Amino acid sequence: MKSKLLFLSAATAMMMASCAGGDNNGGNANGTATSAKSPKYIFYFIGDGMSTPQINMAEKAVSEEGFLEFFNQKTAGKYNLQPGKLNVRQFTAAGLANTHAQNRFITCSAAAATALATGNKTDINRVSVTPDASAPYRTIAEMAHDKGMKVGIITSVSIDHATPSCFYAHCADRNEYARIDSFLLKTNFEYFGGGFVRWNTKQHKGLYDYLDQINAAGYKFVNSRKDFDALKAGDSKVIATIERTSSDTASLPDDASLPYNMDLCIQKSENDQIVLSEFLSKAVELLYNDDKGFFIMTEGGKIDWTDHANDAVSNVYETIGLDRALGVALDFYAKHPDETLIVLTGDHECGGLTLGFAGTGYESAFNYMKNQQITAYSFSDSVRAYMKNKASFDFILKKIDEYFALGNEEKGLKLSDYEIDRLKKAYNVHKDFVKNNKIMIPIEEYKLYYGSYEPITVTVTHILDNKSGVDWASFAHTALPVPVFAIGVGADNFNGYYDNTDIPKKIMQLADLK
Ligand SMILES: [Zn+2]
Repeated sequence: MKSKLLFLSAATAMMMASCAGGDNNGGNANGTATSAKSPKYIFYFIGDGMSTPQINMAEKAVSEEGFLEFFNQKTAGKYNLQPGKLNVRQFTAAGLANTHAQNRFITCSAAAATALATGNKTDINRVSVTPDASAPYRTIAEMAHDKGMKVGIITSVSIDHATPSCFYAHCADRNEYARIDSFLLKTNFEYFGGGFVRWNTKQHKGLYDYLDQINAAGYKFVNSRKDFDALKAGDSKVIATIERTSSDTASLPDDASLPYNMDLCIQKSENDQIVLSEFLSKAVELLYNDDKGFFIMTEGGKIDWTDHANDAVSNVYETIGLDRALGVALDFYAKHPDETLIVLTGDHECGGLTLGFAGTGYESAFNYMKNQQITAYSFSDSVRAYMKNKASFDFILKKIDEYFALGNEEKGLKLSDYEIDRLKKAYNVHKDFVKNNKIMIPIEEYKLYYGSYEPITVTVTHILDNKSGVDWASFAHTALPVPVFAIGVGADNFNGYYDNTDIPKKIMQLADLK
């Protein structure tokens, strides 16, 4: 594993997505609730599993000495993060939205995205259909497209995942991937970028079969850095993803998503990786037109995944990844301030992240975060392999020191007897209850400790996160309201406290979308 860790310099930076010099007028000058102008260029950003704790944690981590260098190194120089505030600070209007689903207080990504894409509440797992799944809800992306706007759908997870699919598909269950994928090809939307379709051998006939369908639908499929860079203004109906080694029968790695930002430097072809902000830059380049404009939805999908795993450091990385994509939109806004609207929100909070911990009281120590070398997901894979080879507890402790510096006294991360006991317990739980790489934890207490995750890894991130002064209450979503930020034409409309269904309604009203 260690030999795969390539510490690249920031010199390989592929793009600049740093602070835009946008003005701060944010819509109409008199500050009234309506704007005479209609936005022609609309950017809609969704941080999956992102509420205020995730944003504030990223801001705090970035401000720590040495974090920038650490971030740029781990992300293989892809973002060229510079000192200064995150882009999210440039928004001029802010609101707060409730997220509940029709049939549950704590929502899921599909019900939440249905609300954000259509302005309607629905039941858990529904994809832009009514709660009883009997009728479709029209989406803001469909409205924009019918109006003549070019439409782009971008995500760091698969393009048929819950959030993106709610902008173009209509079905009863978010897990109907093959159905969602056929909706995708019928949209005629100009651009899909990010992960590929989520592979499901039970539903899909075969990968090459789907590639044939892509061709038949008139889409251009691009899955290499070279072909991606060659895309140019005027290219229309594009599905752009990253290069993968896959066969007709093999499943695509990590649910067909983009790599975690934190793990970019351990990817095989780190120089060829295309990151979220680049997928957005390309969308702007391809979809820009002076006629009817464009509507682009960009999702940071893996913020949620790192929340679920209770992995704070990787969470910071994913949040910054979305923030860098915001920079692309803010740069565009700086050039077209009278015609552009940018809205950022989250679909729900996840993990019950809080910026405090009982064991550290009023103290925080975010500087510890830069000791984590890989995501919890990657570390879990390694732990499973070690444990399969009957690794001793001492060997596991050595690996925890290597990848998280836990146990390293010089770095201030000495493990207490209590923490070592917690790790030992997790080690024993893994030995007893992980069979064939599946976690079979029958004991209530253990479910509370580890959820459905690899016990040693969860304990490691919990200890590091707690030492840093942050804590997690859950391995699932929570009902914490989400922030809504806006800048540009009509931004003032997004001030206040409202429901998540109001967010697309405000955009529809401003842009005259029906
Ligand atoms: Zn979600």
